[in-house]
Amino acid sequence: MQGFWKKIIGRGDSAQAFETDAQETMPAAPAEPEDLRDETQPSPVADSTTTQPAEISTRKNWRERLSGSGLARNLGALFVRHPKLDDDLLDELETTLITADVGVAATHGLVEDLRRRMHKREFADANALLDALRAALVALLQPVAQPLDATTHKPFVVLVVGVNGVGKTTTIGKLARRWRDERRGVMLAAGDTFRAAAVAQLQEWGARNAVPVIAQGQDADSASVVFDALQTARAKNVDVLIADTAGRLHTQAGLMNELAKVKRVLAKLDESAPHEVLMVIDGTTGQNAISQVRQFRDAVGVTGLVVTKLDGTAKGGVVFALAREFGLPIRYVGLGEGATDLRVFDPRAFVDGLLPTRLGE
Ligand code: GDP
Ligand code: GDP
Ligand code: MG
Repeated sequence: MQGFWKKIIGRGDSAQAFETDAQETMPAAPAEPEDLRDETQPSPVADSTTTQPAEISTRKNWRERLSGSGLARNLGALFVRHPKLDDDLLDELETTLITADVGVAATHGLVEDLRRRMHKREFADANALLDALRAALVALLQPVAQPLDATTHKPFVVLVVGVNGVGKTTTIGKLARRWRDERRGVMLAAGDTFRAAAVAQLQEWGARNAVPVIAQGQDADSASVVFDALQTARAKNVDVLIADTAGRLHTQAGLMNELAKVKRVLAKLDESAPHEVLMVIDGTTGQNAISQVRQFRDAVGVTGLVVTKLDGTAKGGVVFALAREFGLPIRYVGLGEGATDLRVFDPRAFVDGLLPTRLGE
């Protein structure tokens, strides 16, 4: 255990995380046909308000999507391999959580509390421990489960930020779909003018969801695009304007300056805009996510997070690390590439999706 801890702590989050995370991604059109992808999904309105049948089907959905995650698989395997309630089980649990990017501090707090309770004979068996773990994980996430209310201003301006390839444009497409389905007037601004294909990718999402996209083409001034878009959104009485931004410029300082300029220009038209600076995090990036959030938060003032790609090979644990480190609201999570694969963050459904239901069954 000692050596393991050293390795984990030694790894740290590096300052160069920002550069190394950036990856060129193809502006691939989102997977289709999205209407057929997710038949079990209730109407977008239903997954934030939990009604009976919708709730069950949504829960099932989360579990299915999260079952591939490292945390889900390793926790499942751990309790099968080690159903006996003892210190070894807790040591292994600790290793599993840290390996899944839950973070050293969060893990330590969780496991030591469970250990103390176990020694006080609070748990009759490993199932009781599992229930306590479930409750503790949910409690860690509950404070950051603050859904985005995009009705407080009109137009409500959402500025979407994050490093390259994390899923910003895809998330914007999904949000457009969600809000359009709620009968809200949505407009998109193609503020990522850095990459050739970025504008086309956003336009594709707009066309698919019948949502207008304001664009000026590659190399246009991002602030100018967003400024135009807000003027148009006002003129057209739009409810929500969602602005895409670049994830990488020639330098990191360049990107942060551009984002700051976009914010300044928005404020010229509406002092209160942007109403949400939504930072998108790739759930597979692990602890690097922490340094990314710190940088964007310090430079542009993040007000909410979206964690994407939790359906894939993500270890899943980074959601807990983010919750503990920043306390920033986690608005949505991405559970797939399709238009309806964005969920309002639901700690209970998320944790249930990661943990085995019951042992020995
Ligand atoms: P951007 O550079 O931040 O705008 O990232 P994109 O929106 O272009 O997304 C990069 C890649 O991630 C694309 O291939 C998306 O389909 C994929 N992606 C985005 N969100 C999710 C998600 O929730 N799950 C999965 N599996 N893939 C996602
Ligand atoms: P600065 O770099 O902080 O001085 O930002 P600017 O004031 O130069 O604005 C950046 C971009 O936003 C400009 O290139 C314009 O396209 C746009 N912009 C800002 N203010 C106005 C304005 O009053 N009218 C118009 N049409 N565009 C504006
Ligand atoms: Mg993009």
